[in-house]
Amino acid sequence: MGGQPMFILSEDSQRTQGRDAQSSNIMAGKAVAESVRTTLGPRGMDKMLVDSGGEVVITNDGATILNEMDIEHPAAQMLVEVADSQEEEVGDGTTTAAVIAGNLLGEAEDLIEQDVHATTIVEGYHEAAEIALEAIDEQVSEETVDDDVLKQVAESSMTGKGTGGLTAESLAETVVEAIRHVESDAGVERDNVTVHTQIGASSNATELVPGIVIDEEAAHDSMPGEVEDASIAVLDVELGVRTGELDAEYAIDSIDQLNQAIDAEESEVRGYAETLAESGADVVFTTDDVDDRISSFLAKEGVLVFDGLGDSDARQIVSATGANRVGALEDLEESDFGAADRVRAQNYGDDDLAFVEGGAAAEAVTVFVRGGTEHVVDELERAINDALDVVATALESGEVVPGAGATEIAIADKIRSEAAGIEGRKQLAVTSFADALDVVPRTLATNTGQDPIDTLVDLRAAHEGGDRAGLITDGETVTIDDPFEYGVVDPADVKREAIESATEAATMIVRIDDVIAAE
Ligand code: ADP
Ligand code: MG
Repeated sequence: MGGQPMFILSEDSQRTQGRDAQSSNIMAGKAVAESVRTTLGPRGMDKMLVDSGGEVVITNDGATILNEMDIEHPAAQMLVEVADSQEEEVGDGTTTAAVIAGNLLGEAEDLIEQDVHATTIVEGYHEAAEIALEAIDEQVSEETVDDDVLKQVAESSMTGKGTGGLTAESLAETVVEAIRHVESDAGVERDNVTVHTQIGASSNATELVPGIVIDEEAAHDSMPGEVEDASIAVLDVELGVRTGELDAEYAIDSIDQLNQAIDAEESEVRGYAETLAESGADVVFTTDDVDDRISSFLAKEGVLVFDGLGDSDARQIVSATGANRVGALEDLEESDFGAADRVRAQNYGDDDLAFVEGGAAAEAVTVFVRGGTEHVVDELERAINDALDVVATALESGEVVPGAGATEIAIADKIRSEAAGIEGRKQLAVTSFADALDVVPRTLATNTGQDPIDTLVDLRAAHEGGDRAGLITDGETVTIDDPFEYGVVDPADVKREAIESATEAATMIVRIDDVIAAE
C-alpha cells in the first residue's frame, strides 16, 4: 500500500470536518431557533409565511412555522424535528423546545471555544437534563387537576394566539368540555375530538357539536333539513337503475317495448325507494349514488339522504351512530340501523354540512370553529388543537407546573447548585445547560418589552426567596409573581418533553465532526 493515496469518496462529494463542521451545524441550528424566538409567549408576534406558489400562512405556532419554512440544512432540519416530535408527543411547547435547543447549541459553541471536548459537553448536557427532570417533578402543583385548572392550562396555551374575536377564556371552556366528553376509565381518547372549520361567521359562533360534522349535502332540496331521533342506515349501495339498459340495441323495436322498458325501470326505482322507506330508516347515508327519482320519492316520504359519501366519513358515521354498513339493500335489517338524537343538513354559503349529533355510540365531539376568513379559522384551529392537546396531557398525567418562565428559573437554579458537585470540565457544560434555559424567561421579557437582564435578576431573586416567580402578562400589565395565582400553568409533560427533545437534538448536533454530502 506504500504511499498510494486511497480515495473512498466520489470526487463530487462535499466534505467538511472538525471545527468547521461543528460550527456550521451549530450556526444552522441556532438560526432556526432564532427564527421562532419572537413568537414565544403571550405577546409573541405572528409570522407570515409565503410559499413559492403564493400561498400565505399566518401563524404563531412554532411547529407550523418551522414546517412551512423550506429548511434544507441537515442540522437545521434536526431542530424542525424537535418541534415535530414535541408537537406529536404533547401538542404544545414547540417554540420553547426549539428555542432551548438553539441556546444549548449556542452555549456549546462557547464551550468548544474554551476547548471543552464535544463528548464532555454531551455528558454534561445529559447530566443536566437529568437534574432538570427532577426539578420539574419538584415544581408540580399539589392541587388536583380539576376543570378550573384544565381551563387555566387551555387558556395559557392560547394566550397570544390569534383567537379572532374570541377570548381565550370562552374557548378554554369549550376545549375542556370537549376533552371531558372523550374521557373514560381507559384514559382520554384525544382522537375522538375533531376540529371542523367553517368560514363565514364571527369566531363567536364557535361551538361544541356533540357529534360529528361532515362535508355533505342532502340528496334532494325538498328533503327535511333536520331529523330528530333518527334511525340511520349506512349503505354501500347504488340506488339507481343499472345504467345502459335503455340503449341496449336489441331491446327496443316498438313503442310497446319502450313503454315496457320505462315501466320496468320505474318500478325498479320505486322498488328501491319503497324498500328503503319501508325499512324504517329516516336518514340514509350511502357511499354510492342515488337516482334523482329515488331521492324525490324519499323526500316525499320525509327521508333525509346523503349520497356519494367518502369512505372515511362513512366510517365516522358508523362509529358515531353504531350502524352496520350494509352492501346490498335486500340485506338491510332494522338491527343494522344506527341512532342519533339529531341529524341535520345545513348550508353555509358555498359549503353544505351534515351534522350527526348525539349518536347512540357517540364518543366523538366536534369543535365547530367559525371565523371571518380562512386565515382566522386556520390559526384558530391550530390554537384549539394545541389547547385540546395540553388539556388531554394535563388530565392524563394530572400534573401541571407554573408557566411564565417560573419552571425554567427553578430548573436552572437547581442545575447550578448541583453543578458545584460535578468534577472537571463537565461542570462547565452543566452550568451552560442552566444558562441555556434562561432563554425562556429572557425571551418572555424581550417579547413583552421588558429588560431581559433585569427580569432575570428579579426572577432569580424571587425564586431564591422561596417564591414561585414568573413574568406574568395579565392584560396590559407585566408583573413578576406566582404564575399559579394568575392561572398561568403548563402541563409538566410539555416541559419534560421540551427538555428531552432539545437535549437530544443539541447533543446529536454537537457530536458531529464530519459532514459528507453526496452531490
Ligand atoms: P410554545 O410553542 O413553546 O408553546 P407559546 O408561544 O405558546 O410557545 O408560549 C408558551 C409560553 O408562554 C409558556 O412558557 C407559557 O408558560 C407562557 N405563558 C402563557 N401564558 C402566559 C402569561 N399570561 N404570562 C406569561 N407567560 C405566559
Ligand atoms: Mg404554546
